[in-house]
Amino acid sequence: MKNCINCNHPIEETSHFCPNCGANQGVKVVYVQNNNTNNNNKPVYLIVLCTLTICGSLFTIARALLYEFFAAITEDDGIATRGIIYIISSCGTIIGAVLMLARKLLGLYIYSVFQVIYIVTLGAAIYFYNNRFSLKPTNGLEEFSGVIFFYFGLPAIVFLVLYWLKDARKHLK
Ligand SMILES: [Zn+2]
Repeated sequence: MKNCINCNHPIEETSHFCPNCGANQGVKVVYVQNNNTNNNNKPVYLIVLCTLTICGSLFTIARALLYEFFAAITEDDGIATRGIIYIISSCGTIIGAVLMLARKLLGLYIYSVFQVIYIVTLGAAIYFYNNRFSLKPTNGLEEFSGVIFFYFGLPAIVFLVLYWLKDARKHLK
């Protein structure tokens, strides 16, 4: 024996309808509460940012190793120093991005510090080269430094801003 799901009247185990109230016993509606759709939805925006950061930082490390190679040939200490700073700051931003993938707010701070170091170093390098070759205005370095800033500096600043937007930051604790 079982009981009717509607009126609790005792009915045969095999019967599909209650003899008392006529309710269908076959269909039991179960409401599954899906908690995942509310609070823990995947932070796609943050994951994309972190993935791009890790790829970009690895690219910067490769570029910096090239600088070190040039520095060794030309014995330019300035290039060598900047190369090392780029490598250190890129390792820092990778650590920050990995921590942010693990939803750690600390990652945002680590990322920001090293990203600022990178931007300042890049800005200083552009400033240094513009001044150094200012006596030769026709060598196209103005344009060159503009290109460097556009492809390496601007994205770094944009990313720093994007990470601090609420859409990314709200996923970090
Ligand atoms: Zn019933």
